[in-house]
Amino acid sequence: MESEFLGWLRTRLPASPWLRLGPGDDAAVLRLGEAREAPADVAPADVIVTTDLLTHGVDFRVGSDDPRRIGRKALAVNLSDLAAMAAIPRAALFSVALPRHGALELAQALYEGILPLAEQFQVAIAGGDTNTWDGGLVICVTAMGVTGPGGVLKRSGALPGDDILVTGPLGGSILGHQFDFQPRVQEALQLMQRYELHAGLDCSDGLARDIARLCEASGCGAEIDLARVPIADDAKMLSRQQANGVTPLEHALHDGEDFELILAVAPEEATRMLADRSLTTPLARIGRFVAEPGLWQVAASGQRKPLSPKGWEH
Ligand SMILES: [Mg+2]
Repeated sequence: MESEFLGWLRTRLPASPWLRLGPGDDAAVLRLGEAREAPADVAPADVIVTTDLLTHGVDFRVGSDDPRRIGRKALAVNLSDLAAMAAIPRAALFSVALPRHGALELAQALYEGILPLAEQFQVAIAGGDTNTWDGGLVICVTAMGVTGPGGVLKRSGALPGDDILVTGPLGGSILGHQFDFQPRVQEALQLMQRYELHAGLDCSDGLARDIARLCEASGCGAEIDLARVPIADDAKMLSRQQANGVTPLEHALHDGEDFELILAVAPEEATRMLADRSLTTPLARIGRFVAEPGLWQVAASGQRKPLSPKGWEH
């Protein structure tokens, strides 16, 4: 199956300027960066690599989810991690364990979803591994990029007093956003180049949980202003559909897979960013980082209570 699939795949992969050799050898040769793209304090050879494993029954369901959307998601979650570093995506390795029955058709359908997204972000599919087995579909994508012109965005670096910004509405991603989201690659590059961002990450496991991670990496705490959290329409719809008492706000705080960026920015800089009408994505200021470790929710009345992340409900 694999050689037939690879033969088919080679006819589908466009040439890429980043791909010096591959796929088809034991490893790919990539020339990812050029000196003019790197800021002075970053070596031009810096390559940014991330990997993510997606599993049937956890991240998607073969049988009910369109395999093209599954393939797209597998690449998109990795691009979101590159965006969280303000990196420029360049290439990806794509490994799959396919259920034996219908393996070729499934592999091809995955790529029908991968290839348009790869083309959109000029990502070379540099290789991977293709196996069949008796279990459900497992996909592992490794994505690589280079540092953007504004440098690397890290999780550490948030300072007490910094504002918390997010790049879009949150919650209810299980209704479709988990597959169809746009990785915030361009937004991260643009913001990193124009503004002084202290820290950032992508929101993959729930707003509260991911802010807690940023706090941990930066050695601080955070307060979230509940009334300022932008709530996605799907969070409201999910709350109505499920009728289980989980509010739209709770979905926005705790659902996973929003893939928006969470940023730590000094208040004056945040004000400039919020006034910037040329940004492609509306930013929201949802709270602030504080010196005291921990995570708090602040009601419109000003009352402050601890907030424990429930995270990732898929
Ligand atoms: Mg991430």
